[in-house]
Amino acid sequence: MQIMNPATGELIRTIETDDGVSVRDKFAVAREAQPAWAARSLSERVAMIKKFSDLLKRDVEIVARDMSLEMGKPLQQARNEVNGSLNKIRFFAEEIEKTLAPEKVRQDGNTEEILAFDPLGVVLNISAWNYPILVGFNVFLPALLCGNTVVYKPSEFSTLTGLHLTRLLHEAGVPQNAFVSVVGEGDIGAQLLQLPFDCVGFTGSYATGKKISETLAGRMTRLIMELGGKDPLYVTEECGDLEAVADAVAEGVLYNNGQSCCAVERVYVHEKIHDAFVEQLKAKMQAWKMGDPLDAATLCGAITRGNHLSFLKAQVDDAIAKGAQLVLGGKPQEGKGNFFPPTLLLNASHSMDLMREETFGPLIGVMKVKNDTQAIELMNDSDYGLTSSVYCRNLERGKKLLAEVNTGTGYLNCCDRVSAWLPWSGRGHSGVGSTLSKLGIFAFCHAKALHIRS
Ligand code: NAD
Repeated sequence: MQIMNPATGELIRTIETDDGVSVRDKFAVAREAQPAWAARSLSERVAMIKKFSDLLKRDVEIVARDMSLEMGKPLQQARNEVNGSLNKIRFFAEEIEKTLAPEKVRQDGNTEEILAFDPLGVVLNISAWNYPILVGFNVFLPALLCGNTVVYKPSEFSTLTGLHLTRLLHEAGVPQNAFVSVVGEGDIGAQLLQLPFDCVGFTGSYATGKKISETLAGRMTRLIMELGGKDPLYVTEECGDLEAVADAVAEGVLYNNGQSCCAVERVYVHEKIHDAFVEQLKAKMQAWKMGDPLDAATLCGAITRGNHLSFLKAQVDDAIAKGAQLVLGGKPQEGKGNFFPPTLLLNASHSMDLMREETFGPLIGVMKVKNDTQAIELMNDSDYGLTSSVYCRNLERGKKLLAEVNTGTGYLNCCDRVSAWLPWSGRGHSGVGSTLSKLGIFAFCHAKALHIRS
């Protein structure tokens, strides 16, 4: 497999991929290793994960540079991802022992009723490239800590990062046969799905998630899926400082080049402040400098997948044909590398792909709304349900609005953030089950009900 640099079009490295035989062998190794791994004490496994955190901190520059080269992510944002991921490790390391401790929930006469947990067995993690560390951690960290062994397939667009994570986990003491990585594209993912895993933790697009759930139908395999989003954001006329809100919205749209499942994907603005707000938003988006991901001044790097440039252009063209007004950007940059500038379209409507299909790029449509009722109706008019944001300094009104949105995560006066202490879950086409928080630990265990009569 050729690992290409999306900012230059140059080859970084050619790497050997797995095949049908090696994936079967790797599964067998992980299956055999699982009982011994589960038999290690939880505190031993926690100590390894803490060591892994120290090693990741030690290698931050090496990991961030390779991530930036293979993905086109600005180097500073790659460093931020490594550093932010340490928080997730902290959450799991701090919470797992109390979360999994057997709990006596009731005494019924001489019978103790106890809730306990067992590992699932062997977990397959098929992962996405956009936040290769953060999304991998949601699955393989709790899976390992709960006593499962893991077969991990990083995305073909973030393989070098995935291999760094594998190297560091092994250096931290996680046995080679308890965490096994597989290299390859979608066809290798499809071959892995033929094997009898006990759980599949998948992060990726709805289209692939649908194929995976169809493949697994009838197999009773635990399936956790973190899929795409079409995340709405509503700016009310009570939003406060327009410039500060525009700054936050621009970041929500453009950080990581908009290639985030929780990036702001559509914006609704109350008619009373619409014109003033979009002026501010345009100015803020213009300030996001596009360029060489390794340059410290770059805020928008390269688009990771070359074929996505024509997808983004098609969304722009479709929107303009249906009446949108282009005020910024609009087409790929000519020359080498995959670059698409920050793009702003006004007068958007739900007849446009721009407001319905996940964009996954530095491109945003804005729509004027008359009131809260119309805003809620539009926010809920989507197949997806990952995150939704409301900007409103009247907190009561803001909370009421969030209560009416069909979304896994609601943000009031903020957007595009994840906390390991809260569940991460999508509704509809955005996913199945929860990762992170206590729920994201339970996701990788069987609950066991014990009735102990003395
Ligand atoms: P993708 O679906 O193209 O690929 C994801 C993974 O699936 C890759 O490892 C790929 O090799 C593998 N794959 C592809 N076809 C397969 C098949 N038929 N069988 C098995 N595996 C297969 O997604 P992507 O481009 O890597 O990631 C972007 C998508 O992920 C976006 O939709 C984004 O919103 C979503 N995402 C969601 C979250 C979340 O937390 N909800 C987080 C990050 C990314």
